[in-house]
Amino acid sequence: MSDKAQKPRAKPLRGGCMCGAVEYEAEDRFLYALNCHCSKCRRTTGSAFKPIAGLQVDDFSIIRGKDDLFVHGDPKGIHDLHCRTCGSLIYSWIAENGSVKIHIPMGTLMDAPSARPTIHIFVGSKAPWYDITDDLPQYQGFP
Ligand SMILES: [Zn+2]
Ligand SMILES: [Zn+2]
Repeated sequence: MSDKAQKPRAKPLRGGCMCGAVEYEAEDRFLYALNCHCSKCRRTTGSAFKPIAGLQVDDFSIIRGKDDLFVHGDPKGIHDLHCRTCGSLIYSWIAENGSVKIHIPMGTLMDAPSARPTIHIFVGSKAPWYDITDDLPQYQGFP
């Protein structure tokens, strides 16, 4: 036994779908968090915008209901994974330029993350019935 004890890691955050069939764990070390106002994000969530947290692939795992997911999009490129039963968007697989990131819609988190959205993107496609009332920087597309 070494007395150089490993620093205990914080417990991963838990999240999941509406019906409870699918659950995931995500390490609380997001690469970024932002609010996306693009029409796809608005429609897939039915909301004014989608708060997204970006993660390394290794920091995310499905702990229940892996077989209950269906894929929407390009299976080899960017795609979304939804619960087959309730339809909730669980995560997006963002494969581009030779690297992969995981995007989770922050509304699926059951535990509170330390990260908060820091910017608004695609405000050019923002819902006309929604006014952004915070002071976070706004971008027409990607920053
Ligand atoms: Zn579900
Ligand atoms: Zn979007």
